[in-house]
Amino acid sequence: MSNVFASQHPLVAHKLTRLRDKNTDPKRFRELVREIAALLAYEATMDLATASRPVQTPLSAFEGLELKEKIGLVPILRAGLGMVEGVWDLMPSAEVWHIGLYRDEKTLKPVEYYNKLPVEPTVSVCLILDPMLATGGSAVATANVLKRWGVRKIKFVGVIGAPEGIQNMQTHHPDIPIYLAAIDDHLNERGYIVPGLGDAGDRQFGTG
Ligand code: URA
Repeated sequence: MSNVFASQHPLVAHKLTRLRDKNTDPKRFRELVREIAALLAYEATMDLATASRPVQTPLSAFEGLELKEKIGLVPILRAGLGMVEGVWDLMPSAEVWHIGLYRDEKTLKPVEYYNKLPVEPTVSVCLILDPMLATGGSAVATANVLKRWGVRKIKFVGVIGAPEGIQNMQTHHPDIPIYLAAIDDHLNERGYIVPGLGDAGDRQFGTG
């Protein structure tokens, strides 16, 4: 699958195994989501553009670099919220934009219920954050919103992807690279990723 990157990093594999474990409590679960999000964001931002930035070290002048692009983090509510802090630790000046979507029970299509994006885009790169790329419906809808807003460079960062969700994203947004900790086997009849980790929202927020 082109444009889909499943991390090969041992730290990610180690933390993901703890995350999957049903005995991991919500506090540790939240910490792991945050830590994995940071590791994946590091991989996902490998190609960010830089501009030269001269600085003076205590010893001499130095021609350094700084990030050129303005980054937006777009967590998919609610489970994506737990990924924000981990990514923010790496790029504290990133803007965080919230887009609320729910799935209409009759049409099964995502409906937008919260969107306060200003008319003109304020960022040039967006990272969509959602731990679980299951059917991909919310990720596709969020990418539609961001493209309509005018953002041209978008990446998806998630923890576990199902083949169905990855396929959906690749069909609708082949230009959006997908960064994951793992690609799992399938979705079950209730839309859960198997083997997965259960409900990422419930496990983070203690609501399961
Ligand atoms: N959302 C979750 O939280 N878990 C899944 O397995 C699928 C979607």
